[in-house]
Amino acid sequence: MIQVPVQLIAVFLVVLQFSKAYDRTHRELTDLSITDKLTQLKNRACLDERISEELARFRRYGETFSVILTDIDFFKEVNDNFGHQKGDEVLKSFAGLLENNIRETDTIGRWGGEEFMIIIPNCSHRQGMGLAEKLRALVEKHDFFKEQKITCSFGVTEVQPSDSPDDLLLRADQALYLAKQTGRNRVAGIKE
Ligand code: GH3
Ligand code: MG
Ligand code: MG
Repeated sequence: MIQVPVQLIAVFLVVLQFSKAYDRTHRELTDLSITDKLTQLKNRACLDERISEELARFRRYGETFSVILTDIDFFKEVNDNFGHQKGDEVLKSFAGLLENNIRETDTIGRWGGEEFMIIIPNCSHRQGMGLAEKLRALVEKHDFFKEQKITCSFGVTEVQPSDSPDDLLLRADQALYLAKQTGRNRVAGIKE
């Protein structure tokens, strides 16, 4: 039988511990770099990355996807009337509500301020509109806090063959703008 010196085993165990700690720290740092601090959703950089990945998949395999952009209606009033801290609480609850009502394969993130994005793989424009309407109704009937009703508007679009990331995002933004202009608390879509 081969005799392994005890010192060698000790060195091996120490190296193993260091390597595990390094992996853990690396993972934690990576998570931090793609996470929005307030809501714990993915941040904008991560959403940009996911859009590029989905576009590449679409071009290579023809797998479609849709994007939903949502923005809380009159959110400034929440801050003005009830304070920034209350506003932050609403943002966290809002993020949690949306996250709990989409699929694990969807990506939801904070696009900025009170604006959020959902990237939905294998999803047509019609299906995207359906999901947005489901979420709109959920937000409308959810009790965030008793003093003020919270609603939000949604813009929906499906990827098109000639799209760059900017084209896709511009259409989602235009759709959201349309939902705001036509009365808020509604879903608008721009097909192509
Ligand atoms: P609209 O229906 O047109 O979207 O109106 P709005 O009031 O929601 O839009 P506006 O762009 O005028 O205001 C957005 C507000 O969101 C203003 C800003 O202070 C607030 N906001 C952005 N980020 C945060 C945040 O992290 N915490 C809090 N509490 N408020 C935020
Ligand atoms: Mg808003
Ligand atoms: Mg906004």
